[in-house]
Amino acid sequence: MKQEKIPYKIYLNESEMPKAWYNLRADMKKKPAPLLNPATHKPMTADELAGVFCEELIKQELDNTTPYFEIPKEIRDFYKMYRPSPLVRAYCLEEKLGTPAKIYYKFEGNNTSGSHKLNSAIAQAYYAKKQGLKGVTTETGAGQWGTALSMACSYFNLDCKVYMVKCSYEQKPFRREVMRTYGASVTPSPSTETEVGKKILAEHPGTTGSLGCAISEAVEKAVTSDGYRYVLGSVLNQVLLHQSVIGLETKAALDKYGIKPDMIIGCAGGGSNLGGLIAPFMGEKLRGEADYRIIAVEPASCPSLTRGVYAYDFCDTGMVCPLAKMYTLGSDFIPSANHAGGLRYHGMSSTLSELYNQGLIEATSVKQTDVFEAAEYFARVEGILPAPESSHAIRVAIDEALKCKEISEEKTIVFGLTGTGYFDMVAYEKFHDGEMSDYIPTDEELAIYRAKLPKID
Ligand SMILES: *Cc1c(COP(=O)(O)O)cnc(C)c1O
Repeated sequence: MKQEKIPYKIYLNESEMPKAWYNLRADMKKKPAPLLNPATHKPMTADELAGVFCEELIKQELDNTTPYFEIPKEIRDFYKMYRPSPLVRAYCLEEKLGTPAKIYYKFEGNNTSGSHKLNSAIAQAYYAKKQGLKGVTTETGAGQWGTALSMACSYFNLDCKVYMVKCSYEQKPFRREVMRTYGASVTPSPSTETEVGKKILAEHPGTTGSLGCAISEAVEKAVTSDGYRYVLGSVLNQVLLHQSVIGLETKAALDKYGIKPDMIIGCAGGGSNLGGLIAPFMGEKLRGEADYRIIAVEPASCPSLTRGVYAYDFCDTGMVCPLAKMYTLGSDFIPSANHAGGLRYHGMSSTLSELYNQGLIEATSVKQTDVFEAAEYFARVEGILPAPESSHAIRVAIDEALKCKEISEEKTIVFGLTGTGYFDMVAYEKFHDGEMSDYIPTDEELAIYRAKLPKID
């Protein structure tokens, strides 16, 4: 039988778009460890979380048993402005590599914010609005999350206050201005607007900031301002839930043509895009209906899964957030200054951490010069200018496709192309000028941060 030719882009109709998010935790026999109260070391209750997070989001955060959450119509309407995102068959890349592998990527960069983060930003803004709040606070590193959240907040007419890691604030003025275009206020972190910011500045004068520090500031601002809550763009269970829209669309598109992937590859910073992409596939794996190789790719300079420990740790430098059990490098860990590829968070989503601990997913780390080499190759072959973060997945997808070539194997590879790299051209410039170097932390360095993990019994 002649097989129908798979199109370059597989799109879903509006009517085929997911109507519910899938909560992968429902199918996990051993659940991710609960968030702990940093003072009592007891699991955080909904009441304790209510000062920080929106009510509906807390329900989603704590729910380990409900498999599907209906996507409210208002959010589905917003999704329709930029979704479904295309699932692209990388014919050009396959040909250029000369591989028998079939390569697909799910492209999440087709919206103004330039990444998958908008999928959760719009959900979080919606629930904040529904609760009658005035606004939300958050942190942003490279700026994708802040951009996505500012778009979502302006859609629902919510105030949006962003603490942006100082070095990014200075190096990425364009991101900052996009956020302000959508009405957000942007403060470089650490700042003197918060107690924790002042404390960090006193202890580390001249610091260029970190994600963990910006989180502490945003949380403090939310809990001390009337009508504000804190929202987070990755790591949390609720974010993985919203991002399941990526995986559900991917699976629906593949199913249309009867395609079964052998391996699914995604970059992992806090774990939200990967957690979302793999969700329905992992569900099948957990229920024993199918098997897939799933590979998380992280930077060699911030290797939480591959070289971290599985332990309770603070989510932020200021130690104001709940404790999460995760693969972590320690909350004080900051990747070296020459690291330009994003994915800088010291920990990893507790759901992905638990799956990794159970051996259900694999992890690998890659050096940034290899990542940018893959990014440039991909841009030239497939046309899309990828975000450095996304290019971690590209690197490993290309490497796996080349392995298939060596042994003449026709594997089907799906990877997540999480965003575009237009605002990352300073990093690309370093690469082109031969000024990019690789810094891999030594075991001794990692041990210093590990020694500071909180002791939980
Ligand atoms: C934020 C971001 C990531 C990493 O975050 P995860 O939560 O691990 O998905 C990856 N790619 C892009 C483009 C991003 O903006």
